[in-house]
Amino acid sequence: MVSTQWRHLPNSEYYHLLQLINFVYGVRNGKTTVLVIGAGIGGIATAARLARNGYQVTVLEKNQQAGGRCDRLVKQGHSFDTAATLFLMPEKIAHTFKDLGERMEDHLDLRRIDPTYRIYFDDGSTLDLTSNLNMMQNQLEAMEPGSFGSYLRYLNEGHVNYKYAVSHLAGRNYYSLLEYFSLTNLPLLLRLKAMTKHYDNIENYFSDPRLKAAFTFQDMYLGISPYDAPATYSLLQYTEIVDGVWFPMGGMYRFVEALTTIGEKLGVHFIYNAPVEEITINNQRATGVTLTDGQQISADILVANADLPYVYRHLLPDESMADRIERKKFTCSSVMFYWGVDKQYPQLQPHNLFLAGNYRQSFDRVFKDLSLPDEPNFYVHAPARIDASMAPEGHDTLMVLVPVGRINDTASQDWSSIKQRARQIVLKRLADMGVRDLDEHIKFEMSFTPPDWKSRYNLAYGSGHGLSHVFTQIGYLRPRNRHDRYRNLYFVGASTHPGSGLPTVLISARLTTERVLRDTGVL
Ligand SMILES: Cc1cc2nc3c(=O)[nH]c(=O)nc-3n(C[C@H](O)[C@H](O)[C@H](O)COP(=O)(O)OP(=O)(O)OC[C@H]3O[C@@H](n4cnc5c(N)ncnc54)[C@H](O)[C@@H]3O)c2cc1C
Repeated sequence: MVSTQWRHLPNSEYYHLLQLINFVYGVRNGKTTVLVIGAGIGGIATAARLARNGYQVTVLEKNQQAGGRCDRLVKQGHSFDTAATLFLMPEKIAHTFKDLGERMEDHLDLRRIDPTYRIYFDDGSTLDLTSNLNMMQNQLEAMEPGSFGSYLRYLNEGHVNYKYAVSHLAGRNYYSLLEYFSLTNLPLLLRLKAMTKHYDNIENYFSDPRLKAAFTFQDMYLGISPYDAPATYSLLQYTEIVDGVWFPMGGMYRFVEALTTIGEKLGVHFIYNAPVEEITINNQRATGVTLTDGQQISADILVANADLPYVYRHLLPDESMADRIERKKFTCSSVMFYWGVDKQYPQLQPHNLFLAGNYRQSFDRVFKDLSLPDEPNFYVHAPARIDASMAPEGHDTLMVLVPVGRINDTASQDWSSIKQRARQIVLKRLADMGVRDLDEHIKFEMSFTPPDWKSRYNLAYGSGHGLSHVFTQIGYLRPRNRHDRYRNLYFVGASTHPGSGLPTVLISARLTTERVLRDTGVL
């Protein structure tokens, strides 16, 4: 075991060999200690995986509950999932349960949502995305004759992208640039159209601007504009239609509860209200953390789940690396409304998407001007349509997500007026589609703006999905999941490889765990 590991170590790093021996000895005796900073999905899943491999794991979370961005707000009998509402790629998520010795179906009561969502275009027309091909054919042909055939071709491309991107591109660690651009990987990048922009690629399939929008806006699930996103992300449209969009009864937070329960069962110790102020470094090694109350905790291995750019800027002494990371492209942020409503609106589907007429401008205003478009795309979630327990009887729980620019350090942004403007636009557009009296029936409103995302979860620039997923920031070109200098400090989560989204962050947790196991000679 030791000789295998030795080959991975640069000769000069005698110190790391000692560390390795220590780790291997510790693992055998169940003594290697791990501190995970942050109880987001990535942190919990990594903690549970490491605990299952015999490590002694403690998770330190700044907030009072686990989940991070995948949080829950509860008020007056209304239950709101704060961010994630689409449970995608269930079979990929099930892998995590399986690897932890559990069955997903024993923890989650998943319901498929089909039609997945209703899209509202600015001309008043709608499109229900569904796995029912007859229904899709009727709707598409009425919008653009001949488009159903294009749709099937597009789904086929998405299938190829999904099949190869998730397993061959996203689902593995890269240890060098050469490995990433190797003779086997380069053709794959070309085949998956990683260097083609998604919106350019959709032009090969549809002419009607509504259809081009309907089959590219999903890039916003990753906080990226279809005008910047690699065409590879057509895998999202494929997986939504073919694998389905699901919802765990009780809300998405049930998933957080399930993972946390499994982690605890495996021996993970969760400590809440424990904000880490600093990662302590000694002799090129991370030795532990200092909490904001001054308490110091040491460990053999550290895993940072807090947003990677924040960790470099605020928890580590690497100023220049923090500067470099902050100069990278970031995803957008969002203004969120969580409305407790004393009436039900059955005309709202579980998932409703309102697309802008000026599609291009709606992204330019968010990603170039870092602002709120005059005519934004936005999303409304009505979970009580699926699960009555999400709202008191006869009432509705509504969550609204309006994408906006991230925080701009060099110009002032008036978030209070941006929020008010977003609210008016949403209420007006909902009124146009028949939800006319909503404002009068909102019992209470909670909201997030980019500064809230930043302060609640320490997200750099309040970016909802962390570092962007443009071609130059994916794969090996994304910050690695182990620190280059402090080799017992690892990263997991949305700003690391492979990126944002629950299934993706779970892959990140698997990859980070594999890296720890490999470095400590267990793999
Ligand atoms: C608006 C929005 C909608 C989304 N919708 C979907 C969706 O429908 N489907 C989907 O699959 N994905 C969705 N996502 C993406 C998904 O929610 C995220 O990719 C995922 O939750 C990120 O998890 P994470 O573990 O990387 O990080 P985080 O959730 O950010 O977890 C990091 C944790 O670290 C903690 N922390 C930070 N600093 C410290 C510190 N100093 N000390 C201690 N703890 C600290 C934070 O409080 C947090 O709990 C959405 C995201 C957003 C923002």
